[in-house]
Amino acid sequence: MATYHYDLIISGAGPAGASCAMALEDSGLKIALLDKYEFPRDKICGDFIAAKGVRELIHIKPSLKERFEKFPHKTVNRSTHLFVGKMDPIQIDWVLKSYTIKRELFDNELVQSILETGKIDFFPVQAVKDVEANDEGVSVTTVNGSTFKAKMIIGADGAHSPVAKMLAGYKVDRKHYGGSVRAYYSGVENIDPAINEIYAHKDVLPGYFWLFPISKTEANVGLGMQSRHITAKKVNLKDLFYRFIEQSPVLQTKLSNATMESKLEGFGLPFYSRKWTVSGNRFLLIGDAASMIDPSNGEGIMQAVVSGNIAAQHVLKSFEKNRFDADFNQAFSDTLHGRFWKEMRVKSWLVNTFADKSRVVNMVGHICVKNPFLTRQLKKFL
Ligand SMILES: Cc1cc2nc3c(=O)[nH]c(=O)nc-3n(C[C@H](O)[C@H](O)[C@H](O)COP(=O)(O)OP(=O)(O)OC[C@H]3O[C@@H](n4cnc5c(N)ncnc54)[C@H](O)[C@@H]3O)c2cc1C
Repeated sequence: MATYHYDLIISGAGPAGASCAMALEDSGLKIALLDKYEFPRDKICGDFIAAKGVRELIHIKPSLKERFEKFPHKTVNRSTHLFVGKMDPIQIDWVLKSYTIKRELFDNELVQSILETGKIDFFPVQAVKDVEANDEGVSVTTVNGSTFKAKMIIGADGAHSPVAKMLAGYKVDRKHYGGSVRAYYSGVENIDPAINEIYAHKDVLPGYFWLFPISKTEANVGLGMQSRHITAKKVNLKDLFYRFIEQSPVLQTKLSNATMESKLEGFGLPFYSRKWTVSGNRFLLIGDAASMIDPSNGEGIMQAVVSGNIAAQHVLKSFEKNRFDADFNQAFSDTLHGRFWKEMRVKSWLVNTFADKSRVVNMVGHICVKNPFLTRQLKKFL
């Protein structure tokens, strides 16, 4: 079986790995970008790409601006409707452009933009199986028997990251984890492609249900909840998903004539509700592999992109100084946590304190609907 030699290995070509690779396109480093799958491939997600994530991607690679603008299969989100209790939705308007794009298409756009440069070697269908890091370097073995050797590795391989497990000793901690299910529907009625819908109704709290249009008549529909509540309340997310649609008069007006176009599938959410180990000897972790999902809304694409860029800047310093050790890589952890931890800690506290108190959520909803200042504060959590 083949052995390949590189300066840097990036394991995973989702938004985190692709962002890191794009930020290093002109570095002159010899980089191998490995992924378990052939692209395009699906990733179970709500498909909402927050404006800050779009902005960061364009900052990393300015040519993406035109690419996104021309991309036909997207909705441009201007508002969110938050349904709380039985009242009319709270409308939250956004100034900057966010997109909803099927991840199958979005992730493929990023990877194609990398392939077009010819500066990074992409190896699809090379699932990382074993990783070793020592003073000599990093050695990766893939499921189909290839070996990749490099000075450093970036773990960008998602919620079940083999790099995080093998090099950082990561184990799922249900106190800091979430579960969610998602399906695609066509023939959806009474939706506005510019408006994403979130349902924080007592039947789904302490989780939330979403309906994100991906066209005038199609939507990404899903439900997510913290794992500790799923266990404590013995919730079956798939049953709750169908039951909630059946019992919600609002959703009935939208989905009763719609067709489910995919299976209802589940996936995990590693929350950034505690500080995880994100670096060590010869490795950095980014995106879901670094457990960077916002515990208040389940979003992780923006953090994946930002962490990818921060990792790229650190990699440049590592190669400049020829330093790949844990002490040197601590600077990456400090920068990453410095950027996000304060905000995530507050969000985590608010969610843990109030999300399962449906009366409080209802009351806040009633107050917000009449108070533009409080509606603006709510924006921070959506
Ligand atoms: C149901 C659900 C809804 C969500 N909705 C939203 C949303 O609307 N907006 C938002 O911002 N976030 C959302 N998230 C979170 C978001 O999906 C993640 O935060 C985001 O995908 C993280 O990007 P990533 O690149 O770190 O990981 P991923 O997107 O998971 O990419 C990891 C890559 O690594 C590859 N890989 C896996 N194993 C290996 C291996 N062994 N070897 C090599 N490669 C491997 C995978 O094939 C994949 O391409 C949602 C998550 C879920 C589960």
